[in-house]
Amino acid sequence: MRLFISQTSPRTAKKRQYSPMAILTILSYPDPRLHTVAKPVAVVDDRIRTLAADMIETMYESKGVGLAATQVNVHERVVVMDVSEEHNQPLVMINPELLWKSDERIKGEEGCLSVPGVFDNVERAAQVRIQALDEHGNMQTYEADGLMAVCIQHEMDHLMGKVFVEYLSLLKRTRIRGKLVKAQRELER
Ligand SMILES: [Zn+2]
Repeated sequence: MRLFISQTSPRTAKKRQYSPMAILTILSYPDPRLHTVAKPVAVVDDRIRTLAADMIETMYESKGVGLAATQVNVHERVVVMDVSEEHNQPLVMINPELLWKSDERIKGEEGCLSVPGVFDNVERAAQVRIQALDEHGNMQTYEADGLMAVCIQHEMDHLMGKVFVEYLSLLKRTRIRGKLVKAQRELER
């Protein structure tokens, strides 16, 4: 997920925690691969840890607050996020499962690294509780509200093959699709 304000917020120039690292290519909507349903991770091993570290690096590089493996064309249930002010508290969530969500809803502006330049309001549950494995294979439970709750729901949607623009009207989605296809063509020229 991407925040509109995060584009202009100052970023830490600290040396990255992970190395060696790789910046992965992020798929752009309407790439059909974004609609692939991710499979559960069978074993949390070095391959998954490397994937997660590269995803974190890619997320920071792209000024995002969350990234799902689906977006880098790996169709396994891995999500990374960092909703901290300083962008120094990355979380790895493997095989995340929703345990509970509130009836209370919130509407907030969302953006997505796979839908560059588009920000729009989406309504979500205000609070969620999930469990997920961390990068060491330990089960963690997260109670989240605010931005983190929104980010969790946004990223878990990606793992199910769903992009946030699918919550918008058909008219808006058609416009977004047209705009991004055009931008892609110009890049390829
Ligand atoms: Zn996204």
